[in-house]
Amino acid sequence: MKERVVPNLHDLGAAALAAELSPHVHPSFRIRQIEKWLHDRGAWSFDQMTDLPRELRDSLASRFTLDLAETTERTPPAPDGSEKFLFRLGDGSLVESVFMPMGERTTLCLSSQAGCAVGCTFCVTGFYGAGRNLTPSEIVGQVHRIRLEKDVAWERMNLVFMGMGEPLLNFENLAIALETLERNVSPRRITISTSGIIPGIRELAALERRPNLAVSINAPDQKRREEIMPITKKYPLAELIETLREYPLEKGREMTAEYVLLAGWNDAPDDAAQLARLLRGLDVKVNAIPFNPDPSLPEWMKRPHDAAIDRFAAALVRHRVPVTVRRSRGDQISAACGQLRGKSERRRGA
Ligand code: SAH
Ligand code: SF4
Repeated sequence: MKERVVPNLHDLGAAALAAELSPHVHPSFRIRQIEKWLHDRGAWSFDQMTDLPRELRDSLASRFTLDLAETTERTPPAPDGSEKFLFRLGDGSLVESVFMPMGERTTLCLSSQAGCAVGCTFCVTGFYGAGRNLTPSEIVGQVHRIRLEKDVAWERMNLVFMGMGEPLLNFENLAIALETLERNVSPRRITISTSGIIPGIRELAALERRPNLAVSINAPDQKRREEIMPITKKYPLAELIETLREYPLEKGREMTAEYVLLAGWNDAPDDAAQLARLLRGLDVKVNAIPFNPDPSLPEWMKRPHDAAIDRFAAALVRHRVPVTVRRSRGDQISAACGQLRGKSERRRGA
């Protein structure tokens, strides 16, 4: 006999949620109450829904679940206040998220997959290899758990998908998670970072409410980018840039080009000039990220000295490309966004 799957309400977008609930929930204003409990308050138990009649809560609990990802571990805060959260998912997979207080605002760095199949050679998540897609409840669960544990108000929150995984290879679940998160966080406060999955960028472009787009460019030409990002063979750099040119940017917004700086490899002022030419005509700012070393990564990869980083940034500015440099935030807990590993035991190729 086929086992009946009990739907998790946190996995459903607005339309699917209404369809699931409406046969069981009357009058219909009760559905709006439930939505509030789910999306605004992050409820993980029907018992929390104290403004619903007892009978309704019991009937819901017999039909649906409300599981959210569970936190298993928290690193002690680094001097800059950032903290790493480790989540164990239902099937034992581990993913990480990072809480980063930044003055008035707080940024949460979120994972979209438990691992990453893209296999960039400078990335620890890539080194440990492919994992599965996170479900919508596992994506929003990271937000609700950290929000509640750290008491972060929705109004102060920025969300960046720069943790483990390639968000645009998990588009369907990402889109559902965005739909529910956008009840409380404006899409202007949400950033999707991609390694340049062209069909995914097109899907994002078709959304009515678009989050910000960050693209990991990381090398100024096709040949070098192929060396560290094998996905470049499938989605060539020229085509990627063309796709970005067609991307419908809202007024007043710009995209971000992330650029991991590797000493002696892509950090010369000439490389900055080449990058500026590549990006010409795009409304884009560069986010230069000095390489974060790790024993699992190739030994030739080194973080440039501060002077070289400054020269690179200055060269970009001379070519009229705005640039920010991500300095050591999170280094202390080896949790700089995008350098998470989830302590997976598997290794690439194993
Ligand atoms: N898969 C998406 C989002 C996760 S990676 C992407 O690739 O964009 C987030 C960022 O961390 C990317 O810009 C990536 O280039 C960067 N990153 C990964 N490993 C790094 C390392 N060892 N040092 C510095 N930046 C790194
Ligand atoms: Fe995946 Fe991004 Fe890491 Fe590349 S940099 S392996 S796309 S997580």
